[in-house]
Amino acid sequence: MLIKTISEVRAQIKEWKKEGFIVGLVPTMGALHEGHMSLIKKALSSCDKVVVSDFVNPIQFCPGEDLDKYPRTLDEDVKLCESNGVDIVFSPSPEEMYGNETPKTNDFLTYVVPPFFYVNKLCGKSRVGHFDGVCTVVNKLFNIVQPDYAFFGEKDAQQLIIIKKMVKDLNIPVEIVSCPIIREKSGLALSSRNKYLSDEDKKEALVLSKILNNIKTCYQNGVTDVKSLKETAFNYLNDKHELEYLEFADADNLEEKQQADNNTRVFIACKVGGVRLIDNILLNQ
Ligand code: AMP
Repeated sequence: MLIKTISEVRAQIKEWKKEGFIVGLVPTMGALHEGHMSLIKKALSSCDKVVVSDFVNPIQFCPGEDLDKYPRTLDEDVKLCESNGVDIVFSPSPEEMYGNETPKTNDFLTYVVPPFFYVNKLCGKSRVGHFDGVCTVVNKLFNIVQPDYAFFGEKDAQQLIIIKKMVKDLNIPVEIVSCPIIREKSGLALSSRNKYLSDEDKKEALVLSKILNNIKTCYQNGVTDVKSLKETAFNYLNDKHELEYLEFADADNLEEKQQADNNTRVFIACKVGGVRLIDNILLNQ
């Protein structure tokens, strides 16, 4: 069932809570693919009722990013969700979520601002304010849906870590469930933004997973020095790739690593054909 208003979702949730149902939430920006579906299937298998939010959140986009051209496929998303047994697809307008004037700053809106230590690195460095927008919308969704469980992908590992931190720091009564990255057979991590890639760019985009896998192999062969591991990436990069970052950080608290260990996650962001792609890998997986 597609619902577009907060009041209707609230009314339905109230009924479910009366019945004692366990409620799961899968927050998405739509243009659903098998990556999203893995979260949805996990939610369906562990909760009585599942809400998928399908909302391109304007306040998590920075100036000059792809807010206007971000893929929107609501009709197909709803069909896919309904055929898989999702109970509610919640797709509010920006006005429904934020009032008449979509706020671009925190001048008029209460924001949830995650700690500087967690945002001043990786994607947060180039996407200033992005995680404020993410935490604000996720917190709003938690308040609207009041889920027992919420499902997030390791594809956006920095986001997942920041959301876990927010839930802990603000005592939000929800359990965060992390779900592994779903990839194409080629190794490319599924992403709604892959739709922007030409066939040629898609081949070039394999550079991200190739660099990560190679680093993992080197680590498993005994190399732990991060500087040496980073250098292995240069064998893969050419002028079609615009590397933004390649960083090694603790998988739980994002502390930067000089020596890799089993709890190290390697994070990469790279533009291919003008499309910004991200990926990551845990070294002991
Ligand atoms: P998005 O619609 O891109 O905001 O993603 C919604 C949720 O789906 C986030 O928790 C993402 O981490 C997750 N997700 C996106 N792509 C993948 C993937 N390839 N594998 C696993 N989870 C994913």
